Amino acid sequence: MGEAVKITVVGSGYVGLVAAACFAEMGHDVICVDNDESKVRLLNDGGIPIFEDHLPILLKKHLNSRLRVTGDLHSAVEQSDAIFIAVGTPQGSSGAADLSYVEAVVSQIARCVNGYKVLVEKSTVPVYTNEWITQCMLRNRIPRKNFDVVSNPEFLREGTAVIDFLHPDRIVVGANSQRSERLLRQIYETLTSGRYYAKGDSLPGPLSAEKPATLLATSAQSAELIKHASNAFLAMKISFINAVANLAESVNGDVEEIAAGMGLDSRIGAKFLRAGLGYGGSCFPKDVAAFSWVAQQQGIDFHILEEVRKINARQQDVFFNKVRSALWTLRGKKVAALGLSFKGGTDDVRESPAIDIVKRLLDGGCTVSVYDPVAMDRAKAVLPPSRDLHYTAGPYTAAEGADALLILTDWAEFAQLDLSRLKGTMRFPIIVDGRNLYKPGHMFEHGFSYLSIGRPAVDRIPVSTERRLALGVPNVTTAFSRPESLQPLGDAGSPTS
Ligand code: NAD
Repeated sequence: MGEAVKITVVGSGYVGLVAAACFAEMGHDVICVDNDESKVRLLNDGGIPIFEDHLPILLKKHLNSRLRVTGDLHSAVEQSDAIFIAVGTPQGSSGAADLSYVEAVVSQIARCVNGYKVLVEKSTVPVYTNEWITQCMLRNRIPRKNFDVVSNPEFLREGTAVIDFLHPDRIVVGANSQRSERLLRQIYETLTSGRYYAKGDSLPGPLSAEKPATLLATSAQSAELIKHASNAFLAMKISFINAVANLAESVNGDVEEIAAGMGLDSRIGAKFLRAGLGYGGSCFPKDVAAFSWVAQQQGIDFHILEEVRKINARQQDVFFNKVRSALWTLRGKKVAALGLSFKGGTDDVRESPAIDIVKRLLDGGCTVSVYDPVAMDRAKAVLPPSRDLHYTAGPYTAAEGADALLILTDWAEFAQLDLSRLKGTMRFPIIVDGRNLYKPGHMFEHGFSYLSIGRPAVDRIPVSTERRLALGVPNVTTAFSRPESLQPLGDAGSPTS
C-alpha cells in the first residue's frame, strides 16, 4: 500500500485533466493522453484548456515531473498499470449514451497491451459497459488474464472539481476481480488512509487525517448504476423544487421559505433545493436520458425520469414568459444577460440554460448584451457575436441602456452588484433573476421591478398588504433572509454533475 502507481488517463477534459493532476498530487506517475493535438500542445506550453479552481496550481506543481501530457496513447499504455478512460459519453439520438469514443479508446488500448492492465471506466457509462469493454478486449484477442475492467465513476462537480476529487464524499470501485480491486485501493490509499490530508502542502477541504475518504467496493454493475442513479436523483431534486416554485408562485408563496423548511429535515437536506432556470451542463441532461433508456431496455417502468426532464425543459419556458411579461413585446428591446455558463464557477456552456435563453431572445428580435466572467470565449463558439449580440466587458457595460437585465448564472459577482450604479445605467430598472440571487424586498428598496423564481414579483404583481409586509415591501426592514445553506453560491447545490 502507498506505492506510486503508473497511471494513464485518456481524455484531458473536465474529468480527465482534473483526475490526472490529482493523481499526480496523490503521488502517482501519470500520463494524460488526448487525441486533440491543440490541447496537448497548449498544456505542454503551460496553458490550461478549461477554467477550474486549483487546477493551475496542480499543473504548475506536477507537469513534467509526475505528470506528462501526450498524444501518444500507445507508449502511455505500455508504461502504465492502470488506464483510466475519461472521454466524453454524449447523448445519442435515442437518448442512450453514445459510447463510440469509449469503444475507440478501448480498441486502441487493445493494440498496445504488453502485460497485465487494468482498464478503468471513469467516464459515465450505462450498466454493462464494463462487460462490453471486456468483450471488446477479447475480440481484439487480448487473453483474459492480461486485463481487468473496473468501474470507478466520477462524482466531481465542475467549479469545485479539484477539491471534490481530493476530498470525495465517496470513492466507488466496481471491480469483478480481487487483483484489480487491490490496484484501485492502492491508487486511492493516500486519500482513504488520510495520509494526503496529513501532508503539510495538501489542498484543504472537508476531509482530514482523522476523517479520511471512504471507498465503497461494489460489483461493476452496481458502480455503473450508482453513478446514473445519483445524477438522476439530483436532477429530480432540482425539478422537484422547480415544480414547487411554480406552485408557490401561483399562490403568492415563497419557494425560498419552503426550501428552507424542507431542507431542515435531515432526511431531505438543503442541497439541490434551489429553484431556478433548471439544470444544464454536460451531465444531468444526458445522464437522465441515458438512465431512462437503460430502464426502458430492461422493461422497467421508470417514468419519473421523463417527468424530471419535462419539468426541467418547462422551467426555461417559465422564465422566458417572465421576461416577456416584464418587457411586454420583445422586438427591438435591448436586454442585458448576465451569465452564459451552465452554473457559476465554470466556463462550461454545454447544455447551458443561459445560452438557450439568449438564443430565444435573439429569435424574438431583441438586441442582447451579454457578460460572463469566464465563459465568453466558449460561448462565442455556439453564439457568435453579431449585430444583435454583443459581448461586453462587465455587468455595468452590459446593462447600459437596457430595457431589462436578466441573471442567468449564479456567479458570486452577480450577487454583489452595485445596484445604484446598475439602475443609473439601465433604461428601465427591471431585473428578471433566474437564480434568486437577491431578496425581493431589497430590490424594491433599490427601485427595481424584480421578478424571480417561485417568489412574488415586486412592483408588478399586486400582493396583499400582509404579504408585502412579510417581504419587507415597502419600508419594512424584516425582508426574509435565506439561511446560510441556501446562500447563492458555493456548495449549496448548483445544478452540477
Ligand atoms: P470533455 O469533453 O471535457 O473531455 C473529453 C476529452 O476526451 C476531450 O479532451 C477529447 O479530446 C478527449 N478524447 C476523445 N476521444 C479521445 C481519444 N480517442 N483519445 C484521447 N482523447 C480523446 O468531457 P468531460 O466533461 O471531461 O466528461 C468525460 C466523462 O466524464 C463523461 O462521460 C462525463 O459524463 C463524465 N463526467 C463528467 C463530469 C463533469 O462535470 N464534466 C463529472 C463526472 C463525470
